[in-house]
Amino acid sequence: MAQKKAQSTQKKTAEAKGASTSAKKPAEPVKAAPVKSEPVTKTEPAAKAESAKKTEPAAKAEPAKKAEPAAKAEPAKKAEPAAKAEPAKKTEPAAKAEPAKKAKPAAKKPAAKKTKTAAKKAAAEEVKTAAPAAEAAPVAEQPAEPVVEPAPAQPQYDTPRRSVAFIGSECHPFVKTGGLGDVMYALPRELVKQNCDVRVILPRYACIPQKYQDKMVYRGEFYMDLGETGRSYYVGIMEYICDGVVYDFIDNQEFFSAGNPYIGLVDDIPKYCFFSKAALAALNYMNWIPDVIHCHDWQAALVPVFQRTLFRDSPVGHAKTVLTIHNLRFQGIYNIPTIRYWTGLPAEVFNMGALQQAWRDANMLKGGLAYADRITTVSNTYAHEIQTPEYGEELEDHLRYHSYKLRGIVNGIDYGMWNPATDPALAVNYDITNVLEHKPENKRALQEELGLEQDESKFVIGLISRLTNQKGLDLVNAIVPQIMDGNTQVVVLGTGDKEYEDTFRYYESAYKGMFSACIQYDESRAHRIYAGADALLVPSRFEPCGLTQLNAMHYGTLPIVRETGGLKDTVEPYNVFNGGGNGFTFDRYDAGLLLDAINRAKTEYFTSRYHWDEVVQRDMAKDVSWTNSARQYKELYLELTPW
Ligand code: ADP
Repeated sequence: MAQKKAQSTQKKTAEAKGASTSAKKPAEPVKAAPVKSEPVTKTEPAAKAESAKKTEPAAKAEPAKKAEPAAKAEPAKKAEPAAKAEPAKKTEPAAKAEPAKKAKPAAKKPAAKKTKTAAKKAAAEEVKTAAPAAEAAPVAEQPAEPVVEPAPAQPQYDTPRRSVAFIGSECHPFVKTGGLGDVMYALPRELVKQNCDVRVILPRYACIPQKYQDKMVYRGEFYMDLGETGRSYYVGIMEYICDGVVYDFIDNQEFFSAGNPYIGLVDDIPKYCFFSKAALAALNYMNWIPDVIHCHDWQAALVPVFQRTLFRDSPVGHAKTVLTIHNLRFQGIYNIPTIRYWTGLPAEVFNMGALQQAWRDANMLKGGLAYADRITTVSNTYAHEIQTPEYGEELEDHLRYHSYKLRGIVNGIDYGMWNPATDPALAVNYDITNVLEHKPENKRALQEELGLEQDESKFVIGLISRLTNQKGLDLVNAIVPQIMDGNTQVVVLGTGDKEYEDTFRYYESAYKGMFSACIQYDESRAHRIYAGADALLVPSRFEPCGLTQLNAMHYGTLPIVRETGGLKDTVEPYNVFNGGGNGFTFDRYDAGLLLDAINRAKTEYFTSRYHWDEVVQRDMAKDVSWTNSARQYKELYLELTPW
């Protein structure tokens, strides 16, 4: 895989970078090219020196460990780094670049045209109660008043209040490359409705659109040491408040000035070591100590490790931690010396029960899983699958060992963002009452937009995906010629591995007017495909949760999915005998079975439209909102903080 190659070549320079850390990058905001982060690779030559001690494999070593490794790691109680919050020594030019910004009020978009059902959203509501972060440490400049966006009226709560800090590497609408960005956007907003005080901590990437950069206000700054670098790093905090959620962006141009959130492990490892530590230090600095720290994926997986070691005796050391796995494939693996250099974590954490893997590598996600109080992943089925060799990405033993604290909570979708009745991207808005009338109009508009033959009677199959081998695209490629029967059109939207991009481009030219390959990332086109297609293909090799099938169902588009992970949990197979179910499914990872599922869908569509239409309406009525899932997260937080 191209990305893997890139990582291994970059890796050598990583250690060099360890020695010289100050390469500055251009400060200009750059447009994000939303490419998913590279898969984590195993490390290679650098660690050879250590490989002398080849004893038993990792899998064997783990069960032997009794206590949670955290217990061992305690000795390293370094002075709390955040405490250093010296009032702004302006060594870093970045600090200057952030004068407290007076934000303009959020631009109110005129409600989308289209049908009368659309655009009822009242724009301005009352000012929200933002998380009341007490000001603590002195700052050199007077922070401006945080920008306050309108928030919905507070509902009546039926659960106790808890404060939660979300820490992760992406969040819609600031930066998103996949489902993680959706979750970081939607779940905090839903938790606010469930009586939570939520603060989301993100890197302040230069690629965050200027309109959001303009709304951020300066919240403070301090300097923090980092690992064995011997340097003091600037940590700025820029704040933006919206819909009751406080977003704190960690600012440091040395780490976050690239055009993409993810570049390659050589840059990303130091970046997220810094980010994880800075996020905890920022909580201490702001004197906002949450009940629960909820971290996401490998980029924030060191948070529980730092929290239980270097920050153990600081205020933030009292919080409980939850680590959510959105995709186990990405783990943040690098050699031990480099990660030790960038983190300064005590030697004890680099053992086989925590960060160490395969004797010479350090695995950031593995460490986080060991130290977190709870682990969640984004569906029940995936929670079980990752404990098996087939899906465990070599962490199955570690996950089985920690399974007592692992659970699956399926994702939802944000009904504000995904609503065919109000979606401004659509040609015609619709809801469950008029979907059968208006979906064909959206289909025709989509065909026109993409240069396809305009014919409402064609069966249109959509595929919206990162183009990587996780997504089952080799199965799709194998059967395209058998799908193209003159009555079927295929629309692909995605970017990723060149081999898939090129194959889809080839099919576009081979089946002119019937196959469209949009090799791009285009949020609004994605919405139009969900609305205009009849079916959406998600034949993934593995799928932790999957959001595209949820979006599709909510737009009355029937999913055709492989029964794995969240796809299995959210799509009930269509039952030809009683007409029940939500979509068409197949189990084994096999091109023939995918073709069979597509053919079953076509048969239903062309010969039994009445039943097809019933499923369309049933899918639109299905509850795929965040409400249930957020309630489960809230219960989890309450379990951890039972006072
Ligand atoms: P993953 O996180 O593995 O990429 P998910 O199904 O969880 O997959 O989430 C994918 C999200 O990204 C969905 O919201 C989907 O609509 C969106 N998406 C994926 N590819 C594109 C694209 N090329 N253009 C626009 N949106 C996309």
